[in-house]
Amino acid sequence: MALITNAIKGTLDVLPKESYKIQYVESAVREIAENFGFYEMRTPVFEHTELFQRSVGETTDVVQKEMYTFADKGGRSITLRPEGTAGAARAFLENGLFNEALPQKIYYLTSCYRYEKPQAGRLREFHQFGVEAFGAGSPAQDAEIIALANEVFNYLGVKNLTLEINSIGCPACRAAYQKALKAYFENYKSDLCETCKGRLDRNPMRILDCKSPVCSKIAADAPKILDYLCDDCRAHFDAVQQYLNTMQIDFTVNPEIVRGLDYYTRTVFEFVSNEIGAQGTVCGGGRYDGLLEELGGKPMPACGFGMGLERLLLLMDAQNTPFPDRKGCDIYFASMGDKANLEAARLALDLRNEGLAAQFDTVGRALKAQMKYADKLGALYTVVLGDNELETRKAQLKNMKDGTLTEISLDDFTDTFQSIVIKDAMSGFESLGIDEAQLAEILGGNN
Ligand code: ATP
Ligand code: MG
Repeated sequence: MALITNAIKGTLDVLPKESYKIQYVESAVREIAENFGFYEMRTPVFEHTELFQRSVGETTDVVQKEMYTFADKGGRSITLRPEGTAGAARAFLENGLFNEALPQKIYYLTSCYRYEKPQAGRLREFHQFGVEAFGAGSPAQDAEIIALANEVFNYLGVKNLTLEINSIGCPACRAAYQKALKAYFENYKSDLCETCKGRLDRNPMRILDCKSPVCSKIAADAPKILDYLCDDCRAHFDAVQQYLNTMQIDFTVNPEIVRGLDYYTRTVFEFVSNEIGAQGTVCGGGRYDGLLEELGGKPMPACGFGMGLERLLLLMDAQNTPFPDRKGCDIYFASMGDKANLEAARLALDLRNEGLAAQFDTVGRALKAQMKYADKLGALYTVVLGDNELETRKAQLKNMKDGTLTEISLDDFTDTFQSIVIKDAMSGFESLGIDEAQLAEILGGNN
């Protein structure tokens, strides 16, 4: 097949036979977020370029190398969002959410765009689940968002992730640190990559985040921010750890984490896996107390995280994490003849209105081929409709698992079929040793 073009490098198609996995993850994170009091915010896929320049930071890899920036027909510089926080912060300010009860806790499920070298776990279009808590400066808020991410992994049954945390201080303690860093990196100036040479004067902390092997090796022995924290930042960091300990969330302090975006202050954290190759950071986040002011708002503390959904799914596949089955076909109507074809369409629609998955022939196949198709769909039941069935208004419902046939009236089809499906479900519970009373308790909670 000679297609005129292919998908853009670094993008993924999610096919119908796979999409139930991402849907499951999405519905799980939505529910967990709402249990934590976070509600969805949706913002546009593109923003004015300066939003990201100002918030993500001019000296970051994202802004220096990775943004999809273009001029629109009106000559404005537009950028596809490389991450979710900047747009959420802009929308928070622009819509006056700071006037509402604080904290304002929001989440998003969103696509992101970065011009990076595609490889396993690194795409040019990827998806993030992210949360932001605006207007909460206490360590309890840092701990709450970490607990939320942790809960997502627990709920989904993802194992072996390590939570690494660090504090990168505030502008006050960072000044002394930047000075010490600059003095250290000056000694290796000629060995640094070209980008980092430029960062030396403007923002030496960014060198700590450089992916080049030479720069990372030099960075390994650089002064550590934890030795420079002011008393307030130290107390904040200690309190975050106390909350995590109390909530029994395991973590290690990793003084090397600085995070790739400029807006972070104080707490930064990552959930890291060693089971999905070099791109092991599944979730990264932290506090960014300076961001809202930087964007033109009043000073207001905030924190959040971004979780890469493709990396999460890679990890779930690597760990053979079970997913609930996708919705299958409850019943297939195989029909023969014009009248029966119409009846099949009518019955299927009636069942669908009751929440059952019903299908019928839409390609004009012969009966045998229709049954073969039903088999491929994994239909739980089939019904053959022909002239005879229409005349008698009765048909044979075939249970595809055990082959048993049940006569069923076409005029009372939906109700009868529904009660058969419920009986099926009951016998499923019975085989698990759950009787009707117990089932009622499970379904009805304690009431
Ligand atoms: P990395 O160090 O892997 O480049 P980052 O620090 O650039 O990550 P963030 O900006 O913190 O990543 O984004 C949050 C999360 O989004 C990451 O932890 C990761 O799971 C995911 N992510 C980031 N970039 C990509 C990408 N190009 N492809 C797929 N997922 C990504
Ligand atoms: Mg990156």
